[in-house]
Amino acid sequence: MAFKAPRGTRDMLPLESDKWNFVERKFRELCYNYNFAEIRTPVFEETELFVRSAGEESDVVKKEMYIFKDRGGRELALRPEGTAGVVRAYLEHSLHNNAQPVKLFYYGPMFRYDRPQAGRQRQFYQMGIEIFGTKDPASDVEVIKFTADFFSKLGFKDLKLHINSVGCPECRPLFQKDLEEFARTKISLLCGDCRKRALNNPLRLLDCKNDSCREVMKDSSPINAYLCSSCGTHFEDVLKLLKALNISFYVDSGLVRGLDYYTNTAFEFLSCQLGSQNALGGGGRYDNLVEHCGGPQVPGVGMAVGVERILLALEKEELFPVKDQPEGVFLAVESTDLWEERFNLLYLLRDNDFRVETDYLNRSLKAQMKFANRNSFRFVIIMGVEDKSKGIVKLRDMVNGEQVELSFEKIPAFLRKKIE
Ligand code: AMP
Repeated sequence: MAFKAPRGTRDMLPLESDKWNFVERKFRELCYNYNFAEIRTPVFEETELFVRSAGEESDVVKKEMYIFKDRGGRELALRPEGTAGVVRAYLEHSLHNNAQPVKLFYYGPMFRYDRPQAGRQRQFYQMGIEIFGTKDPASDVEVIKFTADFFSKLGFKDLKLHINSVGCPECRPLFQKDLEEFARTKISLLCGDCRKRALNNPLRLLDCKNDSCREVMKDSSPINAYLCSSCGTHFEDVLKLLKALNISFYVDSGLVRGLDYYTNTAFEFLSCQLGSQNALGGGGRYDNLVEHCGGPQVPGVGMAVGVERILLALEKEELFPVKDQPEGVFLAVESTDLWEERFNLLYLLRDNDFRVETDYLNRSLKAQMKFANRNSFRFVIIMGVEDKSKGIVKLRDMVNGEQVELSFEKIPAFLRKKIE
């Protein structure tokens, strides 16, 4: 029986790697501009870290985590998201003792056991940023502006920014109580999960994926009416700064995001091109998360984007840069007897930073030329048996068919000039 990639995962094939690298390059360039430093954390952590941070009642913890015991009996989980591990590392290495704010970025695979569909996988890649150590609304806006800039650098033009405030532990309880009461009056219309949510964590009623539950909960009173004065002011300041930066947004009072750790700002960027999985990225403020994970009171704000969904949306909008032009050099040889000369030239060119390939299948010259053409090499160098005594080779520019004869030493300078 042939093996297949596990359900909900996909291989990244060489043909697609340019697209991945394009997205990754834009992200890294922007992190550099915004002064975010890279952090890499393990893909698995103690299960309890995610339970503590995402919340026991979140879908991620309740239904979607890959949990396992290792051979030493430790309870571990594949990370379902990036922030918890970054917070753990921030504390473990006492980064809170450094000058604040600490600005970090990460990129890597995340794992959620969910029903796979277009734009939803069990292993997917996220790129994310976090700012620790400031409550300034300008830092919320920096995270949102970064996300907007990233999407516009990729070429997106019409993404929608939805934003909301989810309040804080002071003002949220009253909202949750009213939400619970509202849900009780509609309990027969809600799904089994939401009936439990109504009792255990009413806020999660607002991110049920079930359309009929969404329809019911649309009539509950919005959280904005419950914000305490400091949350209200924070939210107003964020919106004011967004306006000052000409970033358009829609205040979406139903937006609470799937994880319990958010306070104040919550936001998402949505694409009109994707179906139900239309969120390209999102984030928000998490002022109590560090403390909740056993550290001091350090506020934070961050966001994560999903790479596969970005690629899907770029594809739909035909935003990838035009297919690469022919490039690189193919070194074709008339006979395998020429291996010594061939290797000399091959490594001379590679040492000079050219991208070079040669034939390892003893193909005829004609077949080698065909291979070079099909694989979009810009130049072909033909090393003939007769040329050996003269110390020269033929170099053909495949774009215009021009051919010249050159000695080995002259080739690097000649190619460099041509490419320029
Ligand atoms: P979240 O923190 O759940 O909002 O995730 C942030 C981003 O990651 C989302 O906006 C998606 O782009 C992406 N994402 C989340 N879950 C998945 C998944 N199962 N498959 C693919 N991408 C995902």
